Amino acid sequence: MTAMAAGVLAAGAYAYAGMWPTSQLFGRCVVAAKNPSHIALTFDDGPNDPDTFHLLEVLAKHDVRATFFMIGRFVRQRPEIARAVAAAGHLIGNHTMTHPLLLIRPPRLVRQELRDCNAALEDALGTAIHWFRPPHGGRRPDVLRAARELGLTPVLWNAMGYDWKATTPDAVERNILRSFRRNARRGYATNALLHDGGQAALGQDRRHTIAAVDRMIQRWKDEFALRGEVCEFVTPEAWV
Ligand SMILES: [Zn+2]
Repeated sequence: MTAMAAGVLAAGAYAYAGMWPTSQLFGRCVVAAKNPSHIALTFDDGPNDPDTFHLLEVLAKHDVRATFFMIGRFVRQRPEIARAVAAAGHLIGNHTMTHPLLLIRPPRLVRQELRDCNAALEDALGTAIHWFRPPHGGRRPDVLRAARELGLTPVLWNAMGYDWKATTPDAVERNILRSFRRNARRGYATNALLHDGGQAALGQDRRHTIAAVDRMIQRWKDEFALRGEVCEFVTPEAWV
């Protein structure tokens, strides 16, 4: 093997360890337990106006508890949305202050991003934060160490809605269900990455996500009921 090929391979392994959502090479992260009847719906990049409120209505209609990984700078702008999510009983986690790719940032900035988001959430909610999702899934050992020093457990995912861009409810549903069936075949729970907001600004249109969530929850409930089973909508707390 040439030195260059070795370098390319090493870079590939580094990218895998640092970006691939189910990789554990850079330290343990919560992905999903071995329980195919567990489904965790997780929503990143909020709070967002008005779609976070619309999503809360859909989750309440189905009596489903979900997880929201929030961007600190939006929490500072609209703390009342974060409080509404907490008041509805959902789990709230840290998604950094400004949503950088932590994999390529200096350790000092990584710690600052995590601390500032925790402070924004704790000021808004009055409770300690225990969960963290790295933006884009990007991480390295010191990112996970910094999170743990703040009492934060890192959470990744094993299903993606690809809903951060304009798309249709059908496409979001198809993406999640494809991963759900693969996870179930392997005996695993599904940890679905969806977005109630967007990193660019408040006011992102997430109607496609909300419509897809409404339909998916009903579909899961019906499919499990047909087999005489019940699907449980959980948060990462159920898996540690
Ligand atoms: Zn994000």
